[in-house]
Amino acid sequence: MRVPLLDLGPQLHSLRPRMLDALTRVLDSTGYILGPEVTDFEERIAAYCGTKCAIGLSSGTDALLAALMSLDIGPGDLVLTTPYSFFATMGVVLRVGALPVFVDIDPDSFNMNADQAAEALARDHKNGRKIKAILPVHLYGQCADMPKLSRLAQEYAVPLIEDAAQAIGAECPFEQPDGSVIWKRSGNLGLCGCFSFFPSKNLGGMGDGGMLTTSDEQYGALVRSVRNHGEEGRYYHKRVGGNFRLDALQAAILSVKLDYLDSWHQGRAANAAQYRKLFADAGLTDNPVRLPQELYAQVPGAAEHHHHIYNQFVIRVRRRSERDKLRQYLLDHEIGCAIYYPLCLHQQECLPAAMRGAHLPVAEEAAATSLALPIFPELQAEQLAFVVATIQKFYKSC
Ligand SMILES: *Cc1c(COP(=O)(O)O)cnc(C)c1O
Repeated sequence: MRVPLLDLGPQLHSLRPRMLDALTRVLDSTGYILGPEVTDFEERIAAYCGTKCAIGLSSGTDALLAALMSLDIGPGDLVLTTPYSFFATMGVVLRVGALPVFVDIDPDSFNMNADQAAEALARDHKNGRKIKAILPVHLYGQCADMPKLSRLAQEYAVPLIEDAAQAIGAECPFEQPDGSVIWKRSGNLGLCGCFSFFPSKNLGGMGDGGMLTTSDEQYGALVRSVRNHGEEGRYYHKRVGGNFRLDALQAAILSVKLDYLDSWHQGRAANAAQYRKLFADAGLTDNPVRLPQELYAQVPGAAEHHHHIYNQFVIRVRRRSERDKLRQYLLDHEIGCAIYYPLCLHQQECLPAAMRGAHLPVAEEAAATSLALPIFPELQAEQLAFVVATIQKFYKSC
């Protein structure tokens, strides 16, 4: 049995007629840059996330870049972020001329450790307040500790930018003083949220695309200007921006897919629950296989909220050699799997050597021991069972 890590075929098959209609509509409109397709999709994403504005951008990377450029972050500035993410999170910081400050990750969620973020901000407060933004990532589809991070952002008056590229629709619980809980969606948890529509994200386009959401209208207007070469009024440039526009074609396709996003989230969550049952029945948890932790599963009302959208289902094993052997074993049995990510950001060669010395043991351990398994919504029960049975066979044979 073949189990791909991701197969976009089933959703293409069911949506093909609607997608072709959307493509034809854009083609025949002869309006390919911005315009009503982009505006409509922006409005739908703002409504979905619960923010006042949404600005369509050319990729998740460009959403992050526009977020930093619109805050005038540049040389001499620092951005507090996580060492365990896709490269873009750090890449944009370096591209505007600023430097990343890393704190380690939380071992359960793989997200930024908020207590260490507090320590870093306290240190920075004494050292001239060079941290100009906090940039957490909602890794694999589960929100970072946003209640704590937003308190810190307020306390130190530093903007909070969500890298929500893997987490569109993920909900985060905020406990109120009276004990009740308010759930809010990613993109609505800080100054702004940055989304990616790379084809492998839960909402993926027919190519690259991104979005920035914010409820700060003034900031939203800045991002809109930065998206279009800093223009304010045709050919009048108040600032330097770029060509960071979302294609009308992508907006039209994504708008078709948005109707199905919540049902896809449900499919992924159901697969995750099924994995949990299969792994437990196989006697593999918590040793040798550690399953992804659902941080918010115990919060009242969690069952009605997408507290983890499972862009990835990432297990951990005991050591690097075991992970690498298991990965090869699964690939040999035609089971797709991948390492997100094999090297931490603070260890990347593009960084100045002096910055690569940081010791962030939890992130380094995650890079050594984690492995993503297939989780896309259309997986069949037999495929999930085959994945777990194959992992069980691997452990029996070694
Ligand atoms: C995918 C991703 C990005 C970048 O998005 P692109 O659309 O590929 O530019 C940024 N951050 C994280 C965490 C991502 O997963």
